[in-house]
Amino acid sequence: MAESMTGLKRSSRCTAISEDDIGKELTLMGWVQKRRNLGALIFVDLRDISGIVQILFDEDICGHEVFEKAGSLRSEFVIAVTGKLQKRGGAVNKDLKTGSLELAATALRILSESETPVFPIEDDINTKEEIRLKYRSLDLRRPAIQRNLILRSKVMQSVRSFLTDEGFLEIETPMLTKSTPEGARDYLVPSRVHPGEFYALPQSPQLFKQLLMVSGYDRYFQIARCFRDEDLRADRQPEFTQIDMELSFVDVDDVLDVNERLLQKVFKEAIGLEIELPLQRMTWDSAMERYGSDKPDTRFSMELIRLSETVADSGFSVFSDAVKNNGGVYAINVKGQGDMPRKRLDKLTEDAKGLGAAGLAYIQLKSDGNRKASFEKFLKDGELDSIINKCQGETGDLILIVSGTLKISREVLGQLRVNLAKELGLIDESKYNFLWVVDFPMFEWSDTENRYMAMHHPFTMPYEEDLHLLSDKEALGKVRSKAYDIVLNGTELGGGSIRIHRSDIQEKMFEALGLSLDEANERFGFLLTAFKYGVPPHAGLAYGLDRMIMLMAKAQSIRDVIAFPKVKDASDLMCDAPSVVDKKQLDELFISTIPEENNEGKGE
Ligand code: ASP
Repeated sequence: MAESMTGLKRSSRCTAISEDDIGKELTLMGWVQKRRNLGALIFVDLRDISGIVQILFDEDICGHEVFEKAGSLRSEFVIAVTGKLQKRGGAVNKDLKTGSLELAATALRILSESETPVFPIEDDINTKEEIRLKYRSLDLRRPAIQRNLILRSKVMQSVRSFLTDEGFLEIETPMLTKSTPEGARDYLVPSRVHPGEFYALPQSPQLFKQLLMVSGYDRYFQIARCFRDEDLRADRQPEFTQIDMELSFVDVDDVLDVNERLLQKVFKEAIGLEIELPLQRMTWDSAMERYGSDKPDTRFSMELIRLSETVADSGFSVFSDAVKNNGGVYAINVKGQGDMPRKRLDKLTEDAKGLGAAGLAYIQLKSDGNRKASFEKFLKDGELDSIINKCQGETGDLILIVSGTLKISREVLGQLRVNLAKELGLIDESKYNFLWVVDFPMFEWSDTENRYMAMHHPFTMPYEEDLHLLSDKEALGKVRSKAYDIVLNGTELGGGSIRIHRSDIQEKMFEALGLSLDEANERFGFLLTAFKYGVPPHAGLAYGLDRMIMLMAKAQSIRDVIAFPKVKDASDLMCDAPSVVDKKQLDELFISTIPEENNEGKGE
């Protein structure tokens, strides 16, 4: 029978005790991790958020009644124990902070009983994730997850204190709003008061934070929840958290500077990491050229080697045609893998095709001195040597080559580079390599939309030198923007840009994006109107907090750093959302639903 805690006061958390407290009478409360009966003694491991402490029930000390009660304790019972703290009689447990101490109980109350937990409350359990998420309240008791959420809280604290000291104001922006132009699908909320109309949940506070700059707030930040109804992917959450900021009267260097110092402080306070400033900067162009990625992992080399010039007149038409068509031919030299078995090479070829390449050419410089190239019979005399030379190929190396459009050839090799480094253990996991990628292209061609889209968003400022290209449809691909990303170990931690604060440039931008002024006004007229009344030059950046914590905690999954995450199909397994609602609720909203089999618009 559960008892109340009336008259009891907890002395401290379970592990907030030390040898200085020996001899004191304490009352500790928490969950039973484990009970062991050793004849006349019962040991209980008592757990709370701080960790575990050992409780000793010795019948000679606690008396028969308490001893009997202790014998009935089972895992996850919630108890309150009063007793005297003493040095452990038995062996010291070095794994525990309280390993040399124990509380010799004199009184025990069972505050709540527990059914047998669905899985043990321990790290490294192999319970299926669906079960863990369904019983999330149990899962959240596991120390590994608790450590992650404690870390998360610490990071948020540290961010708040740094930005506040730097003159940023924490200001909330609405959750029920109008669609913002980040490019993903919106989550919509029907309006009851305005039948047939919908709010959108924010994809980011983008327009509001720019408005705050227009209103003179100078520096804003928010730890903001954002919502994007994107395609299903294992590492994506439909709702996620951004550390979002905006600053006035700044240029790129100012934004990067304050953010470097923010990262330095937060990583030091959260995980004790010393970051040396300034951080490395790389243009988008050179990131793509050297790593085939706009978020290069610089913890290992194996950089891309440009073969386009070397093979421009190749006898192998796949190469020479790619160059003629303004594409590219690139290689990586995988050191020491020249003897890779055929099966693995075939798998690499499949991977390359899966990533969009037409194929994968390779040269094996076998350790016995033989060399074998998958395309050798097409080559002119000396060509193989010049390719190998260009790649600084040595006995034992494997050279992988991809040709095609510039985008495909670089990006496919960039991805193979990362996959191989992981497979071959080339990555020093203890490293934290931060990198700014700057000067992103303003536009990106979309085959599906058949038009140029803004790579970051339409409020991003192009380079002044490139402004004249805005009115030339053919040249849009060459316009560089003042957009920047912060990358950590090959993952994008955050990104932002200098904004357009001049309406003439903004209008040109809409035009380049194929957006008429009417359409632009319809979507974000409130911003454009505000821009008529004095706009400071401004800029901003947003970090993905979940990812940041995941990298700090070296967690396996983004779901392990979010208290109540959703799974791949965007559902919450614990509360079973989304769910069907009462017809009455729908009627109030003037909504009727279409049965699924007729619903052709249903997503991927
Ligand atoms: N709103 C942008 C994003 O979510 C960040 C920014 O430009 O500040 O990526």
